[in-house]
Amino acid sequence: MKGLPSLENLSLSFSKLPGVGAKTAERMAYAVLRMEREDREEFAKSIAEVGEKISKCPTCGLYEENGECPSCDDETRERSLLCVVSEDRDARSIEKAGGYHGLYHVLGGLISPSKGLLPEGLSIDSLVNRVKAGGFEEVILALSPTLEGETTSLYISKLLASTGVKVTRLGYGLPMGASLDYADGLTIEKAFEGRRKI
Ligand SMILES: [Zn+2]
Repeated sequence: MKGLPSLENLSLSFSKLPGVGAKTAERMAYAVLRMEREDREEFAKSIAEVGEKISKCPTCGLYEENGECPSCDDETRERSLLCVVSEDRDARSIEKAGGYHGLYHVLGGLISPSKGLLPEGLSIDSLVNRVKAGGFEEVILALSPTLEGETTSLYISKLLASTGVKVTRLGYGLPMGASLDYADGLTIEKAFEGRRKI
């Protein structure tokens, strides 16, 4: 029996998604094949659009659509507060929790020598430059309470020490070892209220 190269290609694409193994990828590819033409086209369009319309804000690193940053370009936000997160989705969790209305800075990961993630590979230089440029009264390190998060917080707080800006970290209603994007809104809100100076 001849193979189905386009189905295999699609399956291979699905297997690149997190948590999707070869079997699941194959099931997904068959499901796409069975979709109504309209749904399939809509699906393909959505995938193309995230690539075309979404980019990273050059200042803070948050994802933005149509060139407008949800944080930097929002005039109503408190511009004296800067919240440092590992990933875009952490900022979105904080937004959903409510309570914080300052600016953001996305590092693009956490320092982890074992995974080959060194400070140079993260947006730490641009963070330091942003803080040095002035205007911020407090930098809140909202990094997950994991070994990597702790290491990164410590590293950044040392770099910012000379700027004289107050550096705080989230209080621990957050469970140790937990990732910020899994925490519920109330826990995140409490963690913000309980933030402490480093
Ligand atoms: Zn921005």
